[in-house]
Amino acid sequence: MRAMTVPLSGALKRIFGFDAFRPGQEGVVRDVLAGRDVLALMPTGGGKSLCYQLPALLQPGVSLVVSPLIALMQDQVRQLQDNDISATFINSSIEPAEISRRLKGLLRGDYKLVYLAPERLVLTEFLDGPLNSLSAGLGINAFVIDEAHCVSEWGHDFRPEYRQLSTLRRRHPQVPLLAFTATATPRVRTDIIGQLALRDPAVHLASFNRPNLFYRVRPKSKHSYGDLLAQARAGGAGIVYCLSRRRVDEVTSQLQTDGVRVLPYHAGLDGQTRRDNQEAFIRDDVQIIVATIAFGMGINKPDVRWVIHYDLPKSLESYYQESGRAGRDGDPAYCTLFFGASDIRTAEFLIQQKIDPNTGEPLENEQRIARQQLRQVLNYAESSDCRRAIQLHYFDEAFTGPCDACDNCCEPRTTHDYSVEARQFLSCIARLAQRGERFGAAYIIEILRGARTERLQSRGHDSLSVYGIGKDRSVQEWRSLARSLMHQRLIGQSQDGYSALSLN
Ligand code: ADP
Ligand code: ZN
Repeated sequence: MRAMTVPLSGALKRIFGFDAFRPGQEGVVRDVLAGRDVLALMPTGGGKSLCYQLPALLQPGVSLVVSPLIALMQDQVRQLQDNDISATFINSSIEPAEISRRLKGLLRGDYKLVYLAPERLVLTEFLDGPLNSLSAGLGINAFVIDEAHCVSEWGHDFRPEYRQLSTLRRRHPQVPLLAFTATATPRVRTDIIGQLALRDPAVHLASFNRPNLFYRVRPKSKHSYGDLLAQARAGGAGIVYCLSRRRVDEVTSQLQTDGVRVLPYHAGLDGQTRRDNQEAFIRDDVQIIVATIAFGMGINKPDVRWVIHYDLPKSLESYYQESGRAGRDGDPAYCTLFFGASDIRTAEFLIQQKIDPNTGEPLENEQRIARQQLRQVLNYAESSDCRRAIQLHYFDEAFTGPCDACDNCCEPRTTHDYSVEARQFLSCIARLAQRGERFGAAYIIEILRGARTERLQSRGHDSLSVYGIGKDRSVQEWRSLARSLMHQRLIGQSQDGYSALSLN
């Protein structure tokens, strides 16, 4: 017997005008059409929306999409309408009279796709009213949970109202749940499946490699502004990320003085100004947006050609997401991180500001996590290994460079042969492990370099065979070797904030 296959490529061409699926899309579409629960992890720009939009149009009922940001909903619906697809959104930005008009339309079958804010969907009023009628009438194809990582406290964007979405599963157990996200850490993945009570979900894990992005790190110096201006003048839509509002305003006005069309975006601006500025950027009325990381997910501009981090990102995950706003259309784009030693001091200072507002005591756990994240960013910035390999390793994805699209692969610095030192480092970890002990890189380097500290002597580590065998290398050299071993996954780091090393 021959399996029935729906000819999807015809529909793809007819409805969206695309010639072929992007990697991973077709598999997801088929599982959605088969009525399964789905968890799909795809990088930004991978084309997640199509994975639920295409099936929505091929199925008889209505598909409901939960999306966390008003701007994002508006963009998506506008794009659908541009393709003559009947879609609408319902959220707090809409007048009550218009909401009831759209709800009537929903029950009448005017829309194939309806985008909703999570807090609205779980209102008893909505659950008992429109949702039940829809279920009994036209039928619900699926509940689509976009940006599903918002359900997890381990993600970078936790939203408590997402937690209540499991109500949908309880109320309408027969309706498939489809969760989409661009956050791939294993912890978030498990959390999504648990929190949303997904049932034997088809998990689609696309590669997080974004081959069209060129990654580079530039030293921060008095020339950095010149570098930025040169990038701006070279053309293409760009985003500049800064750490503080003050910085955003400074950089914006400097660029404006130099005749660049640019607008700021940060939490100090009122909502309307932010929306206007973002809109101006999407429509290419301005070339550049200078933003703090408050620059939410609302940005849905496919042709950003470059992203510059003028200051250090807070974690490697944030860096991946923020730089990932570039090149969503698949064309080449550049991601540049400016990095200088002063950034480390600033970051460390900000971490120390994490205190309990009531007691004034430091929030130790948060500080420890923040320090670990900072260390990972520094490793990335200082490393001479393939930048792409480091990022993908962070997402647990095996990737061995060179990638041909990062500064370290394309402009490699001269490297020494460190194989002897590598063995010494690994054997030090192994010696400690035999004694049931684990330490971070700094301490292991102390052992190798034969430091005469009381701490070290009292633990008896000066009697290890590896004690002092690495005296002739500097701490710097050992540090970079340790990072390199980590990137090559020869050693692992504990994720409890202590960063103790172990052999893989
Ligand atoms: P994300 O995964 O970040 O949500 P989108 O769904 O917004 O990505 O898609 C990113 C861009 O890629 C959009 O401009 C979309 O139209 C385009 N796109 C998606 N699928 C395809 C395809 N199969 N062929 C060509 N372009 C596509
Ligand atoms: Zn590379």
